Amino acid sequence: MHPIDHPERLAFDIGEDALQIAQTVRDFARERIAPGAAERDRTSEFPMELIPELAEMGLLTMKVSADDGGSGLDNTTYLLTMSAISAACASTAVICASSNLAMSVLGRNASAEQKERWIPPYARGELGPSSFALSEPHCGSDAAALRTSARRDGDDWVLDGGKMWITSGAVAGLHVVFARTDPDAGSRGISCFVVEKGAPGFTIGREEDKMGQRASGTVALHFEGCRVSDANLVGKVGEGYRYALATLAGGRVGIAGLCLGIAERAFELGARYAAERKAFGQTVMDFQNSRFVLADTRTELDAAWLLALRAAKLLDQGKEAAAETSMAKVFATEVADRTVDRMLQLHGGYGYSKEYEIERLYRDNRVTRIYEGSSEIQRLVIGRQIAATYAG
Ligand SMILES: Cc1cc2nc3c(=O)[nH]c(=O)nc-3n(C[C@H](O)[C@H](O)[C@H](O)COP(=O)(O)OP(=O)(O)OC[C@H]3O[C@@H](n4cnc5c(N)ncnc54)[C@H](O)[C@@H]3O)c2cc1C
Repeated sequence: MHPIDHPERLAFDIGEDALQIAQTVRDFARERIAPGAAERDRTSEFPMELIPELAEMGLLTMKVSADDGGSGLDNTTYLLTMSAISAACASTAVICASSNLAMSVLGRNASAEQKERWIPPYARGELGPSSFALSEPHCGSDAAALRTSARRDGDDWVLDGGKMWITSGAVAGLHVVFARTDPDAGSRGISCFVVEKGAPGFTIGREEDKMGQRASGTVALHFEGCRVSDANLVGKVGEGYRYALATLAGGRVGIAGLCLGIAERAFELGARYAAERKAFGQTVMDFQNSRFVLADTRTELDAAWLLALRAAKLLDQGKEAAAETSMAKVFATEVADRTVDRMLQLHGGYGYSKEYEIERLYRDNRVTRIYEGSSEIQRLVIGRQIAATYAG
């Protein structure tokens, strides 16, 4: 059962605070985010008007500590909250996820001065969302192969190159950009910079016409002699890749929540439709096959929740959880994919029509197996740990 609705069935203490926050966000998402979701999917229009409200609810800086100006939520609350947003609109959820990634990098690695300069205005939504810019046209999974360069020039850094697939990149006021500062040092030659909207030499590319999550403003970013001050270098030179990976580990739990929110909404729609639709003189729900499909799906969803909650709890306890967060992400995203497919099937022909929400959910979920570490990359991480355990 969905942990927000039936926490008592979990046999897992998610805590009163987490539950209350998730319920509040769910109510807000149903009232304010869900109504425009289908239209945004049709037009691909970025929900700029929602940014101040998302900020007011603390949803753009969830994982940044309260001391640094963020909401200071733990990973368990983040997981549940992401599912509450995505059940209403997956585009809005991924916009929150990418702002959270960008702000988390700053919260964990920026100087006190930098945090004060950037986190509070973005927490308040005054300057729009922020973006996390790691992937490039020629490399996503193998991010350590990135080519965007940053060279020192007096008191400045000059960036050249390009990023690809950047969520919210079309409208973000701030981009956390990973660039190569040492061509010979591999993953130790990457540093992290803040590039603000309007920086000289920085332009935004064409928006992608995507299958799903269509309102999330996914673009390429171009840097041609883009000049930023040394005050925009985040943390230490050469540590950028480590910052990116550490932040993405927590991000995996967020994506597990995001896809489970989509899947829970799909399950609800599928079960309701099956209970109403009649064929051969009975409801679709009355066919044993439909019940078996729903039973399998419910079982897999519950298992996915438990894996995701375990990963979140381990992170909350400050424990290393690379394999567990990968298991949570790969399992939840693949279960969610089966869920949207099966629930669409229960809708018959109507499921294939844009009139029905299940059609959007089917498309919106697909990318969750690709971004923030594809399923294959998650399996690499899990496999690496198994191999290390059994190494002779
Ligand atoms: C809608 C959307 C939003 C995104 N938002 C962002 C964002 O905000 N910021 C950002 O930085 N990036 C973002 N991305 C990029 C995303 O993280 C990458 O697409 C993803 O990491 C995969 O990289 P790739 O597309 O280059 O595929 P590739 O890395 O080229 O992979 C192609 C295929 O090969 C597989 N593969 C690769 N390496 C291995 C291996 N070692 N073993 C087995 N299989 C392997 C992959 O799993 C995949 O199936 C976004 C992508 C999309 C589609």
